[in-house]
Amino acid sequence: MIDDMLRTPEAIRDAERWTAHNYHPLPVVISSAEGSWLTDVDGRRYLDCLAGYSALNFGHRHPTLIAAAHAQLDRLTLTSRAFIHDQFADFCRELAELCGKDLVLPMNTGAEAVETGIKVARKWGYQVKGVAPGQANIVVAEGNFHGRTTTIVSFSTDADARADFGPYTPGFTVVPYGDLAALTAAIDENTVAVLIEPIQGEQGVVVPPEGYLPGVRRVCTEQNVLFIADEIQSGLGRTGQTFACDHEGVTPDMYLLGKALGGGIVPVSAVAANTDVLGVLRPGQHGSTFGGNPLACAVATEVVRLLATGEFQRRSTELGARLHAGLRSLVGKGLVAVRGRGLWAGLDIDPTLMSGREACERLAERGVLAKDTHGATIRLAPPLVITEEEIDHAVAQLAAVLAG
Ligand SMILES: *Cc1c(COP(=O)(O)O)cnc(C)c1O
Repeated sequence: MIDDMLRTPEAIRDAERWTAHNYHPLPVVISSAEGSWLTDVDGRRYLDCLAGYSALNFGHRHPTLIAAAHAQLDRLTLTSRAFIHDQFADFCRELAELCGKDLVLPMNTGAEAVETGIKVARKWGYQVKGVAPGQANIVVAEGNFHGRTTTIVSFSTDADARADFGPYTPGFTVVPYGDLAALTAAIDENTVAVLIEPIQGEQGVVVPPEGYLPGVRRVCTEQNVLFIADEIQSGLGRTGQTFACDHEGVTPDMYLLGKALGGGIVPVSAVAANTDVLGVLRPGQHGSTFGGNPLACAVATEVVRLLATGEFQRRSTELGARLHAGLRSLVGKGLVAVRGRGLWAGLDIDPTLMSGREACERLAERGVLAKDTHGATIRLAPPLVITEEEIDHAVAQLAAVLAG
């Protein structure tokens, strides 16, 4: 095929012409997908090693999830929360059971789940803990990523994410990630919550030192502070357990969930917590027109059922071991470090070789899609339906890129 018959260049030009440039996508234009594979507008195929930043843990168009969506589209799609619909209770009960919590509050995007967690923690602080009016404070970690709202970027430590979006929301204290002493020192009588990611995905799949999460749990319990775990990217099978907190036997007071909860079909997020926490909300104090809608609930209920089988957590553990072994073999051959858990890896490329962006562009030319984050770091998060052969293929393509 000669170049000017390809549809990709024009599609890229059009996208750049008509959208705000708040992303810098790789130069591929996808038109269909199944399982772990994507096809572009010119018929080229790519192995998906990003999985929508873990929104596609079950792969593209998982048959069970697509069937649930189709069936629901033919019956009922939206009621608003002004009425109750017949998909609502099952979803909330099954997700609450998966989380081991009393209650669930459904929203749409991850950022909304985070905002919900912040509001609930503040209200809990005033009504249950007895914090003085207007004084509630939440301790967060350096290098965090919790979303893009004005309040959330107020406590981001990423200059791009934060600069020029002020005035900033007060009420947050930032401490180094993984440093229990610093976190403990930051807690005072006005602290209502500690909000952290059990593994920092956006920062480059940064795993905290062993004992950190149990330490956070212990300090929060001792100081009467809520432990909020943002498991939006780390949860729902990605690391080989239902939640990344499970690796250290830790149960937070609040789970924030999103991404994979919508099965890669619809945006679904949720907060799960016990009645003494989520019970502080009364009618009119929080909500969302689309939160908990019938289509979202129908799909997400099937997501919860897929997770309840344990199959995807098992796949992530077993295939993750293979992925990490393959990646470790490249340390010293173009990689300087590999981190992560399960089918989730952050790779630091030798910055004298090429940037993360360049590596991802070369990988794309070889039919493997991944995304750089922060300079020379690449994040790999393939769908949990990926096979051994496909993992070996991805690692081989990376080895070829690094070998130049
Ligand atoms: C993606 C993400 C969010 C924000 O989710 P959106 O759906 O993009 O609003 C929040 N926290 C973490 C850890 C995430 O990875």
